[in-house]
Amino acid sequence: MTHSSALETAITFHDLELAPELVQAVTSIGYMTPTPIQKQAIPLVLAGRDLMAQAQTGTGKTAAFTLPLLHQIKQHANTSTSPARHPVRALVLAPTRELAIQVHESVVDYSKNLALRSTCVYGGVGMHEQEAILRSGIEVLVATPGRLLDHAGNKTTLLNQVQFLVLDEADRMLDMGFLPDLKRILDLLPAKRQTLLFSATFNDEITRLANSFLRDPLKVEVARKNTAAETVEQVAHKVAEDDKTDALLRIVRIRDLNQALVFTRTKIAADKLGRRLQRRGVEAAVIHGDKAQVDRLLALEGFKQGKIKLLVATDIAARGIDIVELPCVVNYELPYHPEDYVHRIGRTGRAGASGLAISLVSSEEDKLLAGVERFVGKKLVISDLPELPAPPRPAAPVAVAASSALNASPSVVATTPWRRSGNRVVCALLLPPPVAVPQESAPEAVGQA
Ligand code: AMP
Repeated sequence: MTHSSALETAITFHDLELAPELVQAVTSIGYMTPTPIQKQAIPLVLAGRDLMAQAQTGTGKTAAFTLPLLHQIKQHANTSTSPARHPVRALVLAPTRELAIQVHESVVDYSKNLALRSTCVYGGVGMHEQEAILRSGIEVLVATPGRLLDHAGNKTTLLNQVQFLVLDEADRMLDMGFLPDLKRILDLLPAKRQTLLFSATFNDEITRLANSFLRDPLKVEVARKNTAAETVEQVAHKVAEDDKTDALLRIVRIRDLNQALVFTRTKIAADKLGRRLQRRGVEAAVIHGDKAQVDRLLALEGFKQGKIKLLVATDIAARGIDIVELPCVVNYELPYHPEDYVHRIGRTGRAGASGLAISLVSSEEDKLLAGVERFVGKKLVISDLPELPAPPRPAAPVAVAASSALNASPSVVATTPWRRSGNRVVCALLLPPPVAVPQESAPEAVGQA
């Protein structure tokens, strides 16, 4: 059943009947009104229903499940030091460490006025620190499936009092082969619980998962199937494979981009591009699955703080990256799976902000482009690469010095016509004949930004 917009009239978080501590928390972060997915999902979760929610990244889906979940477990908030008083009551599963960390950051923000404990566990880092926190007792646990099973296997955490299970980005969890892990986790949870499944896309596999994990779920959706975020301007340029780095740098320069997430298809391509950019003096970093967790976090942090201008990423590593008002995403290579195009461009234009998605498409990628266009149901506008502006005129034309040395009046020196020749800017100085004038070196070819 699709439960649509009878609830659209509720326009404030207060109207959604969330606890004042939660309303205060989101207001202090700057949320003015609930987003459409929040308006639809929050009342249903508060009413105790299982939910299948189709919501793209950037729609505010994290708050859509976290707020009602916190509302319902807040009655158990306490400041006791006894671990027994802090059993895991809500479990959120996410496909990647980045998404898990990000969801947990939201949980911390939203629960700041409540005496509830939360933590986040994921692989790629040592177990000990996580074990110590889990042993002390926490109410909200955000986890990637594999690491959760490690902890559950060691009995570091018990899941037999979980009242709420959230599967975030369920489509990606299935893509990444987590189904067996999910089934094992499910066996550790009480049968009586509320389950919320969030997914950007729905297909038969997700529906099968929902049918086996959820009880009589309601379905909510806020975006038409497979639509790309509507606030994102999408541009494509035809560029030969070998010219892509130059094209990228030209775009960065002309559009004056201070922050862009750049996607490649493979880890090797990401590393190669990262090295090339660094060699050309650009503040760039690379994240992909083979990078150590600490390096990925450092790169992300540097990117968020603006120290890194171009973050080169593969699709999986980029899942869950949420940077407020990320202005631009570049598809340096189109993805093999068209749905990844939608995920990628969903990184910009989040929560209603406008964004820009630029695709560099070589002739070898024509088939991938056609796949993307079929998936999003429209043709991408192919435009020429933007032109570079003419550089400023040289401050002191060499001919002035030359002509004064000759004690001759440089009557025509002031006319310094600039003309373009492809990407190169050509400067012609008109000089008084017949004396040879020392040639100033040509301005740097600006096409090679
Ligand atoms: P999500 O889709 O959960 O990844 O959220 C995307 C972004 O939207 C995050 O930066 C949230 O902090 C932000 N956000 C979530 N809900 C709201 C809201 N009601 N108003 C403004 N921003 C929001």
